[in-house]
Amino acid sequence: MARTQLEAARDGTVTDAMTRIAEREKCDPEFVREQVASGQAVIPANRHHDALDPMIIGREFATKVNANIGNSDTTSDLETELEKLHTAVHYGADTVMDLGTGSDLEEIRAAHVEHSPVPLGTVPLYEAVKRAGDPEAITTELLLEVIESQAEQGVDYMTIHAGILAEHLPLTNDRKTGIVSRGGSIMAAWMEAHGEQNPLFQVYDEICEIFATHDVTFSLGDSLRPGCLADACDEAQYAELDTLGALTRRAWDHDVQVMVEGPGHVPMHKVAENVERQQEVCDGAPFYVLGPLVTDIAPGYDHITSSIGAAMAAQAGAAMLCYVTPKEHLGLPEEADVRDGLAAYRIAAHAGDVANERPGARDWDDALSEARYEFDWREQFRLALDSERAREYHDQTLPEDNYKDARFCSMCGVEFCSMRIDQDARASAASADQPRDDGEMGRLESTTDLEASLAADVNRPPVGAHELGRFSPLEGGDASTVESTGDD
Ligand code: SF4
Repeated sequence: MARTQLEAARDGTVTDAMTRIAEREKCDPEFVREQVASGQAVIPANRHHDALDPMIIGREFATKVNANIGNSDTTSDLETELEKLHTAVHYGADTVMDLGTGSDLEEIRAAHVEHSPVPLGTVPLYEAVKRAGDPEAITTELLLEVIESQAEQGVDYMTIHAGILAEHLPLTNDRKTGIVSRGGSIMAAWMEAHGEQNPLFQVYDEICEIFATHDVTFSLGDSLRPGCLADACDEAQYAELDTLGALTRRAWDHDVQVMVEGPGHVPMHKVAENVERQQEVCDGAPFYVLGPLVTDIAPGYDHITSSIGAAMAAQAGAAMLCYVTPKEHLGLPEEADVRDGLAAYRIAAHAGDVANERPGARDWDDALSEARYEFDWREQFRLALDSERAREYHDQTLPEDNYKDARFCSMCGVEFCSMRIDQDARASAASADQPRDDGEMGRLESTTDLEASLAADVNRPPVGAHELGRFSPLEGGDASTVESTGDD
């Protein structure tokens, strides 16, 4: 039996996971297999993650969104961490990264694997630091032990900071904000303290073998990502990217799937350049970007500064967007921040898919626009990315039920509602049996059938609807064997 989705794909096998993904993406299972076989897409699906509903990350598929959760030294309990997972999935996260650095990490991770219908990612370096007590006390043996135990637990993908090398460190000397990746700063400190090469780079082939055994996907960390606009696209960032390209090919030699992480802080006019360069250097391996933030001036609003860059990156070919919340740079996000961050990023991902003219991606926009023009408020709320918020805002000024049939809202008021005025003009022209020869469009019809849309699941409402699949992702067979247990 194939050890990984990549090995199966290379052997010509369409796995159950690929069949399920084709159903979710509205495409041919054979196309899924081809994309995985070529390394252009990944299916993060650890063979021990039974609750997983398989999904795919690749530039030829709908753009995905990741949410980071996790505890810290100051906040930590199992119930809270499971609530965070639920919140992230409820608001539309396609994958979740547990970046916990507090206590009970193993117990919390096991609960996440048990309950999560979406792939779970981790940064094993954090657990290694917790166990060693000090970044400089980490050993290669400890790193491998932690990576293997997390792989055995069922983690689907891991950020591995193997691309930052000792020779890259002097390239950061003139930066304004130095090394801003947590993992990158830890590895740099370790290399400086020991005068040795990055241990994750040194044992990379052993990590590949652990990943192949459990089918864990690499998320190659960009330890030298820029932390401000001034440092974007510098020699350090691109030197590490070259190493990540080489590491991508080495993982493929082991039949291990790879995606590559990207910046960070990048001005708008350089976002596409970053995506194109990564695609070239890493032979088309999926690009998983954090934002990027397109300006540094707005702490408290960095879900917005970064979703602008994320939308541009999606249009340029990034495959997954790691959300940023309003708390970025300021504090640990709470539920409201997770909701706002995910809304910003679902918008960015969808806007990218519409701009790339993915089949059916705009149908959702069209259906909502039709409901809006028809003053079908209930349908507008139902179709809204965040239904609860849309209704809540409408209710703030017009809470009575009869206003859900009104041909205006409180923004312009009844007298100045442009859509009502336009509709009345059309109606009176129609009742006078006058042909519309004034150059204006005819009456809109509600024509968009979302049920029949060719859009991928993530490009249609409601967001956050995941089925729990309980089947072995590598067994061949009928996708109808997927057992649905309802929404997340
Ligand atoms: S009142 Fe203004 S905002 Fe409200 S529905 Fe009419 S045109 Fe749209």
